[in-house]
Amino acid sequence: MTFSIHGLPVARGIAIGRAVIMGGRVDVAHYFVEPEQVESEINRVREGRNAVIEEIQRLQQTISQMKPKEAPHELSALLDVHLMLLQDRDLIDGVKHWIQDRLYNAEWALTTQLEVLSRQFDEMEDEYLRERKADLEQVAERILRYMKGVASPVQPAPRRKTSQDLLLDDSVDVPLVLVAHDLSPADMLQFKQSVFAGFVTDVGGKTSHTAIVARSMDIPAVVGARSASQLVRQDDWVIIDGDGGVMIVDPSPIILAEYGFKQRQAELERGRLARLKHTPALTMDGQKIELLANIELPDDAAAAVEAGAVGVGLFRSEFLFMNRKGRLPDEDEQYEAYRRAVEGMKGLPVTIRTIDVGADKPLDDGIRDAAHLNPALGLRAIRWSLADPAMFLTQLRAILRAAAHGRVNLLIPMLAHATEIRQTLSLLDFARAELDNRGVVYGPVQVGAMIEIPAAALTLRTFLKYFDFLSIGTNDLIQYTLAIDRADESVAHLYDPLHPAVLQLVAQTIAECNARGKGVSVCGEMAGDVAMTRLLLGLGLRSFSMHPSQILAVKQEVLRADARRLEGWSHEVLAAEDPGRLLSKEETQ
Ligand code: PEP
Ligand code: MG
Repeated sequence: MTFSIHGLPVARGIAIGRAVIMGGRVDVAHYFVEPEQVESEINRVREGRNAVIEEIQRLQQTISQMKPKEAPHELSALLDVHLMLLQDRDLIDGVKHWIQDRLYNAEWALTTQLEVLSRQFDEMEDEYLRERKADLEQVAERILRYMKGVASPVQPAPRRKTSQDLLLDDSVDVPLVLVAHDLSPADMLQFKQSVFAGFVTDVGGKTSHTAIVARSMDIPAVVGARSASQLVRQDDWVIIDGDGGVMIVDPSPIILAEYGFKQRQAELERGRLARLKHTPALTMDGQKIELLANIELPDDAAAAVEAGAVGVGLFRSEFLFMNRKGRLPDEDEQYEAYRRAVEGMKGLPVTIRTIDVGADKPLDDGIRDAAHLNPALGLRAIRWSLADPAMFLTQLRAILRAAAHGRVNLLIPMLAHATEIRQTLSLLDFARAELDNRGVVYGPVQVGAMIEIPAAALTLRTFLKYFDFLSIGTNDLIQYTLAIDRADESVAHLYDPLHPAVLQLVAQTIAECNARGKGVSVCGEMAGDVAMTRLLLGLGLRSFSMHPSQILAVKQEVLRADARRLEGWSHEVLAAEDPGRLLSKEETQ
């Protein structure tokens, strides 16, 4: 039966494929194996199952030697049931299928089959049989525990499948769509080169970091879809509409045809936009607009150049520190990574932001920082760096060294206090002095600050005294101005980029920088939103930094805009009680 689930649109486009449900078991690894690893993965499950069978048999023997009072008959009957379940063909064949046909790793295959069988138990009429589900879960848990103690001989091996054409074809190349309760930015990063054609998560806001990474992958994604991971079943056919923020489950042929059409239209539109790649970003009245890229990893530089970016406006360096099981990259490793990004940009400038972890970007996979009640207001970004000067100095030295290979700007996140600014700049001097002492070559950097806390936007004079340029992080600026957690879907409707208070802080920052001749850009998600381009141009913004996939659409808006004429209208929007209304009116001018 067809039904739809609504969430928040995160990354545009349509994906049609089969659902892969990732359960809430945080301790189970999910990755794809290479075909030659299939046998060893099947063996791992087999060994786990055999070990659990032996364990139960040993227990049965012990029980048989006990007095009836000490070992009730029910216990032995229960163990019989467990043994029976462990030998059940549906379990064994199902797990094999997920490994052989889908190349899931052993743990993922086992939990997937567990889910399939659990559904079957749920549908049973007989209450006794229905209750056997709990036994099944217990035996699967035992196998998983055994496997956890035995290291996987294989490493995660991403595999890319791009086939988008499907007409309910059950071949191996059917696109897969990941449906999960939650994914951390670190999980997302691991999936960056994977097979998935789309993502849906139960939780998350539009500018959560998980959503940001999904957007950088340029595949349809929906977050905040509440109980999607429970309502959708493993292998269900689903459509993800990343523009509308909807997932359609078990679509009828008519709906499939309609979305197939939309998918082809979107492809055509992309083809049309691609022609703008080499067109200079000039407004109709001749204003030159800088369109920069946001990247997460050095290799993303290629996509930035490909999209026609004139530089990187935000390299979120914290992603280099994730998925590393506690071992942070040392100076040389970081230097190599930054250098790769700089060289990848072929002479164009790269703005490297120092590490911004904490809040919804924890370092450890999938673990939210439970120790802090309010992580978004806690030890995040520059606060984290200043709390660990040795780590920060390592990063600063690595960035300075990379600056010897091209144009590098250094960007500091989440500053609010003059003392933090001074501390940061003296650590930067210290890092230079350390390199001088070691006789290591390094290059010059322009130093900038992110304006993403209202306190910073309200004390611009201090910031402009110390920094060469400013970059407005609207994602956090909105979060902290409106007191709305950007990752919390339950308040997503209040997360409003067009709130007059937000717009005023953005407008003042742009105006002040322009008046003082200092560079200013917006690097939050607002910069890549075509609905905001004209407003930001009218407010005087000339530098936008966004995901590479958004550059051409924003360029199209720029080419159609007359920046001077937009000024008066933008200031009307700024003064309005409800700017959103005026924004839609401008369309008809
Ligand atoms: C922002 O806050 O707008 C920003 C660009 O930084 P991040 O999204 O990484 O917090
Ligand atoms: Mg931020």
